[in-house]
This record gives sequence, C-alpha cells and structure tokens, in this order.
Amino acid sequence: MYLPGVGPNRKKMLSQELGIETYGDLLEYYPYKYVDRSKIYKVHELTGDMPFVQVVGHILSFETFDMGPRRERVVAHFTDGTGIMDLVWFNGGKYAKQNYKIGQEYLVFGRPGVFNNRIQVQHPEMESGESLSSVLNSQLRMRPYYNTTEKMKKMNFTSRSVERLVKTLLDKLKEPLPETITPDILNRLHLMGRDEAMRAIHYPQDARQLERARVRMKFEELFYVQLNILRYASDQRRKYRGYIFNRIGDTFNTFYHQNLPFELTNAQKRVVREIRKDTCSGRQMNRLLQGDVGSGKTLVALMSMLIAIDNGFQACIMAPTEILAEQHLATILDFLKGMNVRVELLTGIVKGKKRQEVLDGLLSGEVQILVGTHAVIEDTVQFARLGMVVVDEQHRFGVAQRAKLWNKSEQPPHVLVMTATPIPRTLAMTLYGDLDVSVIDELPPGRKPVQTSHVFDNRLTSLYDGIRKQIHQGRQVYIVFPLIEESEKSDLKNLEQGFEVLCQAFPEFRLSKVHGKMKPKEKEEEMQRFVKGETQILVATTVIEVGVNVPNASVMVILDAQRFGLSQLHQLRGRVGRGADQSFCILVTSFKLSEDTRKRIDIMCETNDGFRIAEADLKLRGPGDLEGTQQSGMAFDLKIADIARDGQLVQMARDEAQKIIDEDPTCQSAQYQLLWNRLKEIKKTNINWAAIS
Ligand code: ADP
Ligand code: MG
Repeated sequence: MYLPGVGPNRKKMLSQELGIETYGDLLEYYPYKYVDRSKIYKVHELTGDMPFVQVVGHILSFETFDMGPRRERVVAHFTDGTGIMDLVWFNGGKYAKQNYKIGQEYLVFGRPGVFNNRIQVQHPEMESGESLSSVLNSQLRMRPYYNTTEKMKKMNFTSRSVERLVKTLLDKLKEPLPETITPDILNRLHLMGRDEAMRAIHYPQDARQLERARVRMKFEELFYVQLNILRYASDQRRKYRGYIFNRIGDTFNTFYHQNLPFELTNAQKRVVREIRKDTCSGRQMNRLLQGDVGSGKTLVALMSMLIAIDNGFQACIMAPTEILAEQHLATILDFLKGMNVRVELLTGIVKGKKRQEVLDGLLSGEVQILVGTHAVIEDTVQFARLGMVVVDEQHRFGVAQRAKLWNKSEQPPHVLVMTATPIPRTLAMTLYGDLDVSVIDELPPGRKPVQTSHVFDNRLTSLYDGIRKQIHQGRQVYIVFPLIEESEKSDLKNLEQGFEVLCQAFPEFRLSKVHGKMKPKEKEEEMQRFVKGETQILVATTVIEVGVNVPNASVMVILDAQRFGLSQLHQLRGRVGRGADQSFCILVTSFKLSEDTRKRIDIMCETNDGFRIAEADLKLRGPGDLEGTQQSGMAFDLKIADIARDGQLVQMARDEAQKIIDEDPTCQSAQYQLLWNRLKEIKKTNINWAAIS
C-alpha cells in the first residue's frame, strides 16, 4: 500500500491496530458515525444540552489556571459577535496557546456544556485558513468519524487522519471502483452502484444518500456470505449421495404401534415426515431441528434412528455431557422395552472390557444404536454401516464439525442436529445456512406454561415458604447456583456454603447436590436420588442445564440470576413445566441491576417463547458473542451489516444468492463470472471465510 501520508510508521499502525493492509481494507474501514456539519450556530443560540455544534469566530484572549503540579487548564475566550464562550483545554493547553492566534478566524467544533453560567467547549476541534473555507464552501454536510485505538491517538493518528487518508485514496482512484454485483440485481433491488456507494459512505451528501449507500454495502456483504454458504451446500450435495431409507419395517412399526405411550403432536408428525422425505431422496440429509425445551425432540430422534435400523443401518445419538448421554440411554431403553434392538453407551467412563465390547459390536454391526458424547464420536470409533447421526443440544455443531463425521464411512450418514436454544432465523441462515430447518412449535398437550417471577435476594424467607408449600404438595425443586468457571474454587465454596445454608433452612427435607467437579459416578448417584424422588431439593450448578428430565419437579430457583445469559436462563427454566402441574421459575437477583440484566429479567418474566428470547439475546449481545458463532467457521466479522438488525437484508441476500446457485450450480456460467471471481478474492484475503471450503 502506498499513499501520501502513510510512512512506514503509519503503515505499521494501520496494520497492527486496525488490520488494514490494502487499499480495499482502508475503503472498507467504514465510519462508525457521522456528524452534521451543515449548520453554523451563533454563540447566543448555544445551550448546554446540544450535541456537536460548530461556530465561526475569533479568540479574544487566553487565560491559564494552575491545577496542581505541572498541570494547567487553558481557557480561550471566544466570540462571534453574538456572545462570548470559552474553549477549554485540560491537556495540550500549551499547544493551543502557541498555535491558535488571537483575532484570527476559526471554526470551532465540539460539544457545548455550561460552566459558571457560560457556554464552554472542551477540547474543541479548530479549523482555520484553507480548511476553514473548505468546510464553509463544501457541499458536504456530514463529517465521518472513524474508530482509532488508544495507541494511535497517542501518536496523533486520529479519526481526522484516517479521514484524510480515505479522501486521498478516493481522489487518487482514476477509474471507478469495479462493480461486484450483477446489473440485474442492482436494478431489481434499486441498489446504488459500488463506486458511488463507497464514496458516499465516506462522504455522504445527506442522510438519505448515506442510508442508500449503507444498504448497498450491507447487501453486498451479506450476499457474499450467503453465496459462499449456499455454494458450499450445493457442492456438498453434488459430491455426496445420501443413503436411501425407503423401508418402514418391523422396528419402526412395533415401536409406533405397541410401545409409543402417547400420541405424537402434530409438529412431531410433521417433522418425522420431513425427515422421511429427506432420507428417501437420495440426497444426504443435513437437518437442523429446533424445538423448545420439552417439545419432544428425543422421540423424533429415536424414530429417525429406527427408520435407519429398518433399512439395515446403524445410528448414533450424541449428547453434550455424560449425564445427558446416560439419560438418553435410559429413555431409549425404556421406549424400546421388549423390542430386539441393541443399544449401547459409549462415554469417557465406559472403559476396559466393556468399551472393547461396544467397539467390536459397532464394527460388526451388532450394535444398532450408539448413545455417546460428542467427544467420543469424534475420535476413532468405527462403525460397520453408520446411516444416521443425531446431534443433541448442540448449537456449536457448525460446518467444520459435521465435515468430520463424513469421514466415518464412504458415504456420509444423514445428520440431524437438534437444539432447544432457538436460533433467530437470520442467524440460523448464516450460521447453519447449509442446513434445512425443521421446527417443533408445539408442546405435548396438557403442559401449563411456566410462571416466571423475579425476586430480590432480601426476600428469601417468603421464597422459602413458597418452596415448602410446593414440596408439601408432593413436588420437587431445583435450586441453581451460578458457577461461571467450574474450576473457580471460590465459586465452588459458594455452592458448598449455599448448600449448608439451604440444609439448615429446610431441615425437614432431603437435599441433593450436583456440580461439575464431582466424579461422574457420584454425580449420577445424586441425580438418581432426585430422579427417584428420594430427595426433594436438587442444589446444582448449570450441569443440569440441558436435557435433564424430572417431570415431578415444578420449581426452578435461579440464584444470582444476573450472572446468567438469556439462553442459559431459558434452558434452566425448561427443566420444569414437564409434568401436568403448574410450574414456577424464580429468578433471584441482588438489588442493584445493570440495564442489560434488567432487560434480560423482564424478557424472561414476560415470555416463554424461545424464539422471542433468542431474538432479544441476539439484540442484547450481538451475533459475535452468541454461542456457536466463533466456532462456526463462518465470517462473523461483518464490517457493516448487523445480523440482528438487518434481518430483511439477510433474507434478500439469501434469496438472490439462492437464485444464482439454482441457475448456475457448478459456478461456471460466464454470466456470473463476476460473482465467482469476487467470491474467490474475498476468501483469499479473509482467513475467516476460508474456513468453510
Ligand atoms: P426436548 O425437546 O427438550 O428434548 P424431550 O424429548 O426430553 O424434550 O421430551 C420431554 C418430555 O415430553 C419427555 O418426558 C417425553 O417423553 C414427553 N413427550 C414427548 N413427546 C410427547 C407427546 N407427543 N405427548 C406427550 N408427551 C411427550
Ligand atoms: Mg432433549
């Protein structure tokens, strides 16, 4: 990169601090805000609560005030003839005194405030001479502001410096910037051309033009993300054929007609149909099943696995934790009681002879359903004929992880990914853009929605009374302590002490305690005591977050609820409300709450709808922080688009990208060379993007 004003030092700064290496990077370093510079105010119009303003006038005199050793405050009295205001420097006053001249015309720019009844602007930006007249005569109305780091500011490398660099670059370009979107799309969607948009985004004439420029650049960004993932999905489909499960046989039928203890919900029926259609199609299934906690996803998974078995294949289901894997095993064995299906468990605690037995059974094909943890499946487990893989409660199962599975057999198995943490549509489209999505949007009949309330931690006595009442009615209670880092000793101490306190508060009941530091066997025993109803209260950390199923438990108390994220709170709440009784979730917090916490608590009390909670979560935290986005191998360092706010644009980009892929699945049509070349270019320069290819 060679630009006037960029010596080796600045070049290094740009690269190290902002990641700017090329002209293109610089152009895509968009302003984070714009300030209206069209209006020049008069001093007598100014008030202390205005945003940025500018005034033209001259300095009458300087005054210096001592502020302790080697510190001074410099004040310039400034007028435009309508009144007097003060310009104030706490730092760099010396520079101001030396460089700004009394009597000369200046344009002062800054945020006004009031001190001693007089308007003042601290650390104003000052322009005089040529740059003053350029501002006064310019057609440009909005001034761009660029983020810079502390390190840059120390070297006087400011937003203004970046602005000048961008301007120099744009002025230097002899040719218009090449277009990256086909004319057809530009016309149909009335998008601004790339050259115009790029210039306008740095130097907008007005708010309207800026908005159009931003829409154009956002669309471009989202469009290429979608094009990338859809092209990947289409490649994948062409490369791999899917096993065909065209039989519904004895295993499925026996289960359905003899063992299934209840009627499927309509949503469950629909999803099973969708899965059947996929597995008959000759294409490999990649399906994401979203369904709120308690919506009955396990059953759908089991039925899909039985179809695989009827067609002579093996199936496996993977859970995120050992407890959950064991619970799945128990559930499945119970569902398949009396049927001749061999189900085995493989987790870290299955060792020695037993482990070898299971591994042998998988290789010979005798083991028909394997239940395990994610970790186990990723290592060296070999199957004879793996046809169906279910990944439970996994929001992190992105493209890269799924790709690993495909090495397990010559043809990849069908994959069903299940999650109870609903993912907002726009995010799913991006994160799991190559997956088909099914939704179970209906709970089994007879469930009453959980009632959620918020309690401050000085009201524990009445909370305990409520718990007592529920237990006397035969119910069970979860009490959750936050353990953010399970390794943190202090947190654990917190739980131990809390447990003691609760034992004293409820001498008449039996309590269980479960946390991540316990030995698996111990943990399992404690859990079982609660499951069997031997204990009434389960004191736990978030190890119970996913999947645990005790229908008789009707109260979920979450202590220090401010320390949990929305999706975690929602997951925890999902542990209750599984039986026919009215259930309660009580969020306990300290008195002082941040605004974000307040919002989280309010949303939890307001709704049980996982999708609404997910949307709110996305808005509160931004996509970069959401679970799954980091590991997904997808581009999430979006420079201008915002998945949470630009939902409509995501959909538009998706639709357009889909049309292109449909028309040109092998990416060879001359008509779209422009797009394919650009995609290659982006992937070459963006490491993040390269991950999915
Ligand atoms: P999740 O979707 O959270 O994994 P589960 O599969 O654990 O939910 O199901 C929750 C509970 O609902 C289980 O006890 C399960 O047996 C029960 N269940 C599932 N489907 C139905 C149905 N159609 N009717 C009644 N109960 C059902
Ligand atoms: Mg589940």
